[in-house]
Amino acid sequence: MALIVQKFGGTSVGSVERIEQVAEKVKKFRDRGDDIVVVVSAMSGETNRLIGLAKAINPQPDPRELDVMVSTGEQVTIALLAMALIKRGVPAVSYTGNQVRILTDSAFTKARILQIDSQNIMGDLKAGRVVVVAGFQGVDEQGNITTLGRGGSDTTGVALAAALKADECQIYTDVDGVYTTDPRVVAKARRLEKITFEEMLEMASLGSKVLQIRSVEFAGKYNVPLRVLHSFQEGPGTLITLDEEESMEQPIISGIAFNRDEAKLTIRGVPDNPGVAFKILGPIGAANVEVDMIVQNVAHDNTTDFTFTVNRNDYEKALSVLKETAQTLSAREVSGDTNIAKVSIVGVGMRSHAGVASCMFEALAKESINIQMISTSEIKVSVVIEEKYLELAVRALHTAFELDAVTA
Ligand code: ADP
Ligand code: ASP
Ligand code: MG
Repeated sequence: MALIVQKFGGTSVGSVERIEQVAEKVKKFRDRGDDIVVVVSAMSGETNRLIGLAKAINPQPDPRELDVMVSTGEQVTIALLAMALIKRGVPAVSYTGNQVRILTDSAFTKARILQIDSQNIMGDLKAGRVVVVAGFQGVDEQGNITTLGRGGSDTTGVALAAALKADECQIYTDVDGVYTTDPRVVAKARRLEKITFEEMLEMASLGSKVLQIRSVEFAGKYNVPLRVLHSFQEGPGTLITLDEEESMEQPIISGIAFNRDEAKLTIRGVPDNPGVAFKILGPIGAANVEVDMIVQNVAHDNTTDFTFTVNRNDYEKALSVLKETAQTLSAREVSGDTNIAKVSIVGVGMRSHAGVASCMFEALAKESINIQMISTSEIKVSVVIEEKYLELAVRALHTAFELDAVTA
C-alpha cells in the first residue's frame, strides 16, 4: 500500500463533469488500497477572473486582500471534489491551507511554505478518508491567508508529498508529460520519459509553466519522486529524477523553454567608471524590480551602453527609475522595448559537449533572426530576440537539435 499525493490542475477541475471524472480516478486508486491525498487548483480561468475583479477596483490591489480573495477559487474545488467522492461512497474530507496548517511567510501573492502540519491529514488517512487539500494557499504566523504565486498548487502538492513522506507525487494536467518544448507551440514536440531535477528547474525558471519552479526546487531538495501525467489519458507521463547516469546516451539538449514575459531597457552613453553597474541597477533593485539578463557594451569615448531585462509587469516602474538614474549620471539616452522574447536551450549534456551555443546561433542565423542578448550557464543558453520571431525560433531550434518527433 502506497501513500500518493495527486495534484489536479485548473483544466482538470474546470467543470462539474471534470470534477466527477477526477473523483472516479481517485476512487480507482483508493480501491486499489492506496492512501490518497488530493491537491486541487481553482477551476480553469477562475484565478484570472478573481484577479480581474480586484484590478477593476484598483490596478494595484492590496496584496493581503488579493490573497483573501484569490484563495477562494481553490476552496470551491476542494469542497466539490470531496462531495463527488462522498457521493461515490468514498469517505473524504476537504481542507483549506489554514485548516491543514500550511504555514508560510507573509509575502502575500508569492509566499513560501515554511512548515506543514501533517497530523490532521495522517489521522484522516488512518481513518480511511481521502484528504482533499486546497492548492496555492497557506497561512502566516499571524493567521493571514497567503498564496504561493501563479501555478502554486504544484508546490502545495510537492510540499505535502515531502511532509507526508509520500511514495510519489503525481501532477495531473492537460498534457501527458513534460515535452521537449511546449507542445501547444511545436507540434513535433516529444514527451520525455525522464528529465533531471536540474534540467526541469532550468526549464521552469526559463518559462515552461508545466511545473511551478518552487515545486521542482522542493522535489529536488527532499527527493520527492515526481511525475507529470495526463489527467484523463492513461500513460507513463514524465518522471523527474535525480538520476543523470544515462545522460551520456541522451541528446545534448533536453528541451527548449521560452518566455514572453520580459522587457528590455537600455541606457546609453554612461561614464565607464567603476561602480557604474551598481549605480544603474542599485535603484532598480531598491524599487523591488528583479533583473534577469544584463549586457554591458565595450566602452568607447569613456562611455558605455548598458542593457538589461526585467519582467514585463515591472517595465514602466523600471523605465521611470532608469530615467532618473540617467539624469544623475548625465547619460545620453534611455530606451526600452517590450516586444522581446527569451528562448533557451537546456540540457545537462552541454557540460560535456562543446559548440552547443554556436549550433544555436547558426540555426537562428539561418532563419535571419537577430540575437539581441545572450546569456549562458553550465546547462543552458538563452537569447533575447524580437517577439514576433519566437515561434519560428523555437521550431528551428527544435529541428536543429534533433528533438523533433519522428512521424510515421
Ligand atoms: P495546470 O492548470 O494543470 O497546472 P498549466 O497550464 O499550469 O496546467 O501547465 C500545463 C501547460 O504547460 C500545458 O498545457 C502546456 O501548454 C504548457 N507547457 C509549457 N512548456 C511545456 C513543456 N515543456 N512540456 C509540457 N507542457 C508545457
Ligand atoms: N489557481 C492558481 C493559479 O491559477 C494556482 C494553480 O493553478 O496552480 O495560478
Ligand atoms: Mg500549473
